[in-house]
Amino acid sequence: MAKIKLEREKCIGCGSCQALCPKYFELIDDGKSHIKEATKQDIEELEVEKIECAESAAEACPSQCIHIEK
Ligand code: SF4
Repeated sequence: MAKIKLEREKCIGCGSCQALCPKYFELIDDGKSHIKEATKQDIEELEVEKIECAESAAEACPSQCIHIEK
C-alpha cells in the first residue's frame, strides 16, 4: 500500500492537482484541495493500492504540499 498526504494549510488552491489527478483530488468550498474519500482535517491521508496520477500532482504542486509515501 502507498499513502497520499495533503497538507491543506499550505495549499493555495491553484487547481493543478485536480486537473492532473481528478481521481484523488478536488477543490472544495474553502478554495483548497481535498483528497477525495479522506476525512476533512488539516493533514489528510489516504491509503491507496496504486499511486497513479497522484505522483504527477505532487510534482506539479507549486506549494509542495502533496506527499507520496511508498
Ligand atoms: S496543486 Fe497544490 S497548491 Fe494547487 S490546489 Fe493542489 S494541493 Fe493546492
